[in-house]
Amino acid sequence: MSSEYGRLIWRNGTFMPWEEATVHISSVGHASVSAAFEGVHSYWSATRGALHGFRLRDHMQRLLDSLRLSWLEPEFDADELVAATVELLASWETRGKDLYVRPWGFARGTHREQMVPRGTPAEIAIETWEFESKLGQGRTCTLAVTSWPRFNPGASPASIKVFSNYHNGRLGNIDARARGADWPVFLNGAGHVTESSGSCIALVKRGRLITPDLADGVLDSITRHTLLQLAREELGLEVETRPVERTELYLADEVFLMGTAAEVLPAVEVDGFPIGDGKSAGEVTQAIESRYHDTVRAVTDAHDDWLTPVPASRAR
Ligand code: PMP
Repeated sequence: MSSEYGRLIWRNGTFMPWEEATVHISSVGHASVSAAFEGVHSYWSATRGALHGFRLRDHMQRLLDSLRLSWLEPEFDADELVAATVELLASWETRGKDLYVRPWGFARGTHREQMVPRGTPAEIAIETWEFESKLGQGRTCTLAVTSWPRFNPGASPASIKVFSNYHNGRLGNIDARARGADWPVFLNGAGHVTESSGSCIALVKRGRLITPDLADGVLDSITRHTLLQLAREELGLEVETRPVERTELYLADEVFLMGTAAEVLPAVEVDGFPIGDGKSAGEVTQAIESRYHDTVRAVTDAHDDWLTPVPASRAR
């Protein structure tokens, strides 16, 4: 095998035998142009004494969609990936903890070029680790519109979750932090608000919930779908998905980020403009956060179709 690729390989300034230049499976996907991933939460429900994967199947379907648009071919369907995840989660011996799930897929095999051809089989890995939910803890953040425009979704689809999209996210993140804010807000080429680096954004104005349309170049976020549905159906809010101008953020009554990791994260400042009292979450955001909490923690049984129960530990 090694002769086909020569005897040595250069790595991080060192020459080493080809056989020894291994990459741990956890880093292959991140290192590759042709890789897609997911971030999923599974929440412990004290009410039911059980762990539930939240919208696990929807996340697996988005992973498959991301791979499809990347011309990679997985050998597993969404149900098989859900079953594998449940088994993985069940192998944890700790109970009462929330667990994060990171499924990812990347081009199988050794590719000499980054132009991995159409139809390349996808390898899929799923990792899990503990995380701490911040729901209901009064957390807030500050935002800055970054000088890096959002990547053009005509150049790389924004609705799917591929690692290569996160280069733009990272630049915006560093830019926002350099200017003293926690998270960036990206504008697209038309100057419309899109999203943050790892979450979507919404604002509240006169009791209406407003969020950028997917067509403006936004990840097809599962939390966004969830919160829009909860806002409409359970809080009776009017919801608008449409182009949003940056000044609407400055003049909003409330602004928040939403995503698997961000959960519902109220913003108290955008580009130095205080939002609300400039210190704490507004009323509508609090109501949405509380509904989301009750949904993911299975306090209510109104959305059991979004919850995949994980059987008690089957440690392997
Ligand atoms: N936008 C970006 C760029 C993200 O990385 C994420 C996190 N996956 C989101 C939005 C929120 O998506 P979701 O609600 O599906 O986690």
